[in-house]
Amino acid sequence: MLKRFFAYYVPHKRLFYVDFFSAIVVAILDLIFPLVVQWFINTLLPEQEWGTVVWVSGGLLATYLVSAYLQYNVNFLGHKLGINIETDMRQDLFESVQRQSFRFFDNTKTGHIISRITNDLFDIGELAHHGPEDLFIAVMTFVGAFSIMFYVNPSLALIALIFVPILIALITYTNIKMNKAWRKMYAEIGDVNARVEDSVSGMRVVQSFTNEAHEVETFRENNKRFRNAKVGGYKVMGYTSSGIFLATRLMILSVLIYGAWLLYVETIDVGEFVLFILYINILFKPIEKISAILELYPKGMAGFKRFTDLMDEEVDVVDKEDAKPAPILDGAIEFNDVTFGYEDNRPVLKNVDLVIPAGKTVAFVGPSGAGKTTISSLIPRFYDINGGAITINGINITEMTKESLRSQIGIVQQDVFLFGGTLRENIRYGNLNATDEDIYHAAKLANLDALVESLPNGYDTQIGQRGLKLSGGQKQRIAIARTFLKNPPILILDEATSALDTETEALIQQSLKELAEDRTTLVIAHRLATIRHADHIVVVTKDGIVEQGTYDELIEKNGVFATLNSIQIKQ
Ligand code: ADP
Ligand code: MG
Repeated sequence: MLKRFFAYYVPHKRLFYVDFFSAIVVAILDLIFPLVVQWFINTLLPEQEWGTVVWVSGGLLATYLVSAYLQYNVNFLGHKLGINIETDMRQDLFESVQRQSFRFFDNTKTGHIISRITNDLFDIGELAHHGPEDLFIAVMTFVGAFSIMFYVNPSLALIALIFVPILIALITYTNIKMNKAWRKMYAEIGDVNARVEDSVSGMRVVQSFTNEAHEVETFRENNKRFRNAKVGGYKVMGYTSSGIFLATRLMILSVLIYGAWLLYVETIDVGEFVLFILYINILFKPIEKISAILELYPKGMAGFKRFTDLMDEEVDVVDKEDAKPAPILDGAIEFNDVTFGYEDNRPVLKNVDLVIPAGKTVAFVGPSGAGKTTISSLIPRFYDINGGAITINGINITEMTKESLRSQIGIVQQDVFLFGGTLRENIRYGNLNATDEDIYHAAKLANLDALVESLPNGYDTQIGQRGLKLSGGQKQRIAIARTFLKNPPILILDEATSALDTETEALIQQSLKELAEDRTTLVIAHRLATIRHADHIVVVTKDGIVEQGTYDELIEKNGVFATLNSIQIKQ
C-alpha cells in the first residue's frame, strides 16, 4: 500500500527533494538556536565580548534570511508536490473508471464514483506533502534535541524522556481510532453524493409526484450519518489532542521543577537551565507535527484505500492476451449455443442459436423483458457470455480486441444521451476526427437540416447537458447522424423510434433505412409495422427464440408473431 503511494512521488521527485532538504535545513537551524543562546548567557555576556555579539547577531540575521527562503520552498513547493500527486491519482482513477465494464456501472452508484474521484482524494495531497517530510523532521528534531539535552545533563533529559512512551501510546491509539472514523466518513459522504445524484437526475419524477419533502427527509438521514461519522473522528481527535497537550505540559513542568532544584544544588548553571527550557520547547514541535500527521495520515490513507479499491476493481470484460484487431466486420453475425445471465444462476438466454446474415436487416420482436436488448449487448461484448460462442466473419468476438470490435458497431437506442456542449460537438462524438464537412454531410443524411436552420446558432447552439431542450425525435436524429459519422459495418437499432409519435417515426424511418443500407443490421422494434420490410424476423419470448422467418411467412404460420401483429393492428 505504502509502496504504491510512494510510486506517485517518482514523477515529481525534483520537487520532493527541494522541499525535503529545505525542510531539513530549517529544522537544523532551529536546533542550533538554543546553543547560541546558551553561548550568549554563559560566555559572551559575562565576558562582555561585544564585538563577537555583533558578529553572531549578524550571523543569526543571515540564517533567518536563508531560513525564510527555505520556508518558501517548503510551503509553496511542498504543497505543489502534494497537489501534483493528488491530481495524478485523480487522473488515474478517472482512467480506470473508463476501463470498467457495464457490469460495474450496473452495480455502482454514480455518486459513489464521483465521491471517490473528488472528495476522497482531497486529503491525499496534504498527506503526500506533509507525511514523509514532517515525520522525518519530527524524528530528526526529537533525536537531535534529546541528544543535546542528554549530553548537557543526562538526568534532566531522562525526566523528559519518561513522557515519551505515554505520548507514543496516545499517538498510536489515535491513529487506529481515527483511521476507522475517517473511512466511515468517506463512505458516508459517498452516500450523500449518491443521494444528490439520484435526486437531482430524478427531479422530474420527484416534483411530479410532489415528493420533495420525502427527498429532503431521506437526505437529512444521509447527511446526519455523515455528520455523525465526522464528529466521531473529531471526538477522538479532541480527547487525544488534550491528552497530548497535558502530557507535554507535564513534561515541561517536571523539567522546570527538577531543573530548578539542580540549579539550586548548583549541578547546572543558568545557561544550561535556559538551554533546557528552550529545547523542551523545540521538543514540542515534533510532537505537534506528529499530532498533525495523526490527523492527516488516517484521513489521507482512508481516502487512498478507497482509491486503490476502485483502481483494483476487476474489469470483467477484458482483451485476451493474444487478441488481434478485427478485420472489417462485413460478414455474418452468428450465435452458437449462447447462454448468458446477468446473475450467475439466472440465465436470460439459454442455448440461443442465431444467424444475422451479412449486409441484411434482421428484426427482433417480442414482449419486453424477453431478452432482445440483452442479445444486442452481447455483440459489442458489453457483457461476456457464460457459454457458447458469438462469431462475426467466422471469428469469435473474444479473439478480437474490444476496441476493434466496438469501433465497428453503431448503436442507436431509445434514450439518446447528449453531452453538454454544441450540436456540432455532439455529432462529432461519432468520430472525433471528422471534419466539419463530414458533420454537415452526416447531419444531412440524418435529416437534421431543418433543425439546424431553426437553431439560433446553427451547429454551434448549446444543446444542454442532457439535451432537454430538444424533442425526442430531434435527439434521435442526432444519434443517427453520429452513427452515420461513425460509419460502422454493423448496426444495432434498439427501439430507436419507440418513444416517438407515428408521424415523427415515419420521418426518422427514412433516415434509419438509409443508415441500414449495406450494413449488417439488428433492429429491435416495438411497432411491428416498422419491420415489415426486414429480411428476417426473429421472435423472442421468455422461452427464447420461438419463431423466425419473413413477415409473410410468420403471418402465414399464424403463431406468436401473427397474434402480436393482430393485437397491434386492432389498436
Ligand atoms: P428486452 O430488451 O427484450 O425488453 P432485456 O434484454 O432488457 O429485455 O432484459 C431481459 C431480462 O434481463 C429482463 O428480465 C431484465 O430484467 C434483465 N436485465 C436486463 N438488463 C439487466 C442488467 N443490467 N442487470 C440485470 N438484469 C438485467
Ligand atoms: Mg430492450
